[in-house]
Amino acid sequence: MTSESAQVRSGSLRISEIFGPTVQGEGALMGRPTVFVRTGGCDYRCQWCDTLYAVLPEYRGDWTSWDTSAVLEEVDRLAGGPILVSLSGGNPALQDLAPLIRGGHARGHTFALETQGSVAPSWLGELDHLTLSPKGPSSGHLTGLAELEACLEAANSAPETVFKVVVLDERDYDYARSLAGNYTEIPIYLQVGNPEPEGDPDPGELMERFRWLTQRVLADGWHRARVLPQLHVLAWGNSRGV
Ligand code: SF4
Repeated sequence: MTSESAQVRSGSLRISEIFGPTVQGEGALMGRPTVFVRTGGCDYRCQWCDTLYAVLPEYRGDWTSWDTSAVLEEVDRLAGGPILVSLSGGNPALQDLAPLIRGGHARGHTFALETQGSVAPSWLGELDHLTLSPKGPSSGHLTGLAELEACLEAANSAPETVFKVVVLDERDYDYARSLAGNYTEIPIYLQVGNPEPEGDPDPGELMERFRWLTQRVLADGWHRARVLPQLHVLAWGNSRGV
């Protein structure tokens, strides 16, 4: 047994769902074919969270324990070959995903992870893509600069790193502006907020929000910002597993 396979077999992960391939619907990797591995558990309770089934303790019964090698076998089965694996949650940084990333790299996969940045495991530097998505005032939380700084230190400039901030109102916009002012070298994506994460979203309202945010950015001459909707919500609504 190689040390690699020993590491892969040692981990047990709390998983909410594994699905795909689909295309990434958000942020810098929008449109990229990917398999999602969604972990269970989060240290936040955002007011507009669209994945509460991977957050709240009452859904724990739906989460399953997966050996790391079983996760990789499922990714291989779904994708049929090397693919971008999107590690999401919940907050995927709460669990030790280093064996999964190492084992997946050995199989030819690449890894992207999105986290709010509240915890900073050392293995963030083993990722290929890191999206730090700190939460602004409308979420009911505020991710601090010190927490983000710890994540950036852990990543050590190894993965391609971007910020993604969900913007529902002026307070979130100001938060994103302030963040961008502190990190002028890191690309920042502004994501149109979805105030109705349950039920059927109204595409017309979401595009109205997109137009507001776009106009807000342009009026400020903030030409470094990138404004994006949630592509998968426009295409499939709030459906899971797409
Ligand atoms: S950090 Fe993300 S997963 Fe956790 S509650 Fe907030 S939106 Fe949901």
